[in-house]
Amino acid sequence: MEKSINYQLEIFDIPGHRYKVQIKINKPNQNGQILSMPSWIPGSYTIRDFSRNIETIYARSNGSNINIKKINDHSWKIDKSDNPVTVEYVIYAFDKSVRGSYIDDERAFFNGSSMFLRIDGQQDLNCLLQIKKINNWNIYTSLPTLEAAYINEDKQFWFYYSKCYDELIDHPIEIGNPKTSIFFSGGTMHEIILSGDSFRIDINRINQDAKKICDSQVEFFDPIDKISPFSDSSDRFIFFININSNCHGGLEHRTSSALCIGKECLPMIGEKETPEKYIELLELLSHEYFHAWLIKRIKPEIFIDYKLQESNQTSLLWVFEGFTSYYEDIFLLRTGLINRNTYANIICKKINILINSPGRKKQTLAQSSFDAWTRYYKQDENSPNSIVSYYIKGSIVALGLDSIIRKQSNERYSLDDVIKFMWYKYGCNFYKGIKRGISEDNLVEIIKKSTNINTGIFIENYIYGLVELPIQDWLMQFKIKLELIDTEKPTLHAKTSSKNNGILLETILENGIAHKSGLSSGDLLIAIDGIMVDNRNNGASMLNGYRIGDHANICVFRNNKLKFFNIHLDESEKIYEVKLI
Ligand SMILES: [Zn+2]
Repeated sequence: MEKSINYQLEIFDIPGHRYKVQIKINKPNQNGQILSMPSWIPGSYTIRDFSRNIETIYARSNGSNINIKKINDHSWKIDKSDNPVTVEYVIYAFDKSVRGSYIDDERAFFNGSSMFLRIDGQQDLNCLLQIKKINNWNIYTSLPTLEAAYINEDKQFWFYYSKCYDELIDHPIEIGNPKTSIFFSGGTMHEIILSGDSFRIDINRINQDAKKICDSQVEFFDPIDKISPFSDSSDRFIFFININSNCHGGLEHRTSSALCIGKECLPMIGEKETPEKYIELLELLSHEYFHAWLIKRIKPEIFIDYKLQESNQTSLLWVFEGFTSYYEDIFLLRTGLINRNTYANIICKKINILINSPGRKKQTLAQSSFDAWTRYYKQDENSPNSIVSYYIKGSIVALGLDSIIRKQSNERYSLDDVIKFMWYKYGCNFYKGIKRGISEDNLVEIIKKSTNINTGIFIENYIYGLVELPIQDWLMQFKIKLELIDTEKPTLHAKTSSKNNGILLETILENGIAHKSGLSSGDLLIAIDGIMVDNRNNGASMLNGYRIGDHANICVFRNNKLKFFNIHLDESEKIYEVKLI
């Protein structure tokens, strides 16, 4: 194909974790072609500088080498050439997360955003991708396969096709021999690809539960025909699940989602109960699938055309992540995968996290969204004191919006109507050529049009302001009673973890007992009143036996020096609990 960019990928050095990529550019820019690597991956909002993994790069034209020069952190420029140019580079890939690229002796997984250079100015051309087959490994991706007519019978390669660069990099690829399972939902084939240590994992149970989630979300957005929207981009939807105890998270794509989760969250063959940890996998599946509508198709304006070499700030992440976090559990409840009691306890857990984040009094939800790039994604020991999570607070505010819409409309409308309105007005034709994004300015209008409720003051108070959330009132609409319980147990107001024989004070919460007593983040607590500290459960039981009003002599190591602090344990730990009414 003349008017296309040809990418060829080869797994090049398994023990060294390297791929080799060759790009053939038929018509390079006459003034010197620029090639750029994204510096971030859509869905994970921070600069990651993927270009740093390119180790060597060459360009050739007409059989001889031509000059290629780095011109900024993410881009290279090739000397002028009137003839087609081939660029070849070796790229290191040992990122175990869902955000980058990886290869070892059992599997390869990569995102195009950290693998393929963009040909600047030609990003709207078709892309052909051929991947060299390896061992007896299989390949899994929702990237469309190239029609047989274009394949020159070369059995050494797998062939794929995309309409443009943006599409090429939004279909992650897994190669290896994972456990697999399929089901159909909304007329589309769904594949579950389970990589990592999947020994005795009950993939059939995951399959059945994932199908329930998918069916209910497809029906939510298309209640009449119950057709999934994915045929705008692929013939399938894939859940890539990598079992890895060192990471927990997911990343959404237009027709797939990549999940990484510990084995303790997966159901084992023969297990009848629903282990509490398994709910975390169901939440993740539900969350990432919902994103296929909300953020992959219904988008904030700034994400219509990503600028892949710089931060793309939006004050609306609280909508796209907060609403998604709210609905991830709503769908588990609606499908019966969790009961009301479990649902209420999940909400309660979020409320307790929010209440124990002093940063909620400093950063608004809009600021939290906008600053995700430099603050939420770059958290340190002081983050709980200085920022608020647009996931946690965003999901509680979504509950609040749902609550007031239901209350003021006498249950005629709900947040469901807002999301569905967004879908029909902004999302359903996104990959069919009609690209419209949501801006900050039209959110109140969207809610008004879809529910007839004016939420201007709500948004002003809870999104752009720091007004305390009336969570108790909101929950009453759902017949959940929130109560503040005094545990009567003393607390240091610190986030702690076990380290060596002591307890590491990771975060000292502002204005708490530890803060007021002079303890610092990084202190290693080793003894209380001369007795070696009990460091089980990350320090949860270190003050067992103490009562409110007691004094304790706390001994810590700080910068290798022993220090003592006399602490008055005059405050108790207070937590919220929920009851169904
Ligand atoms: Zn998300």
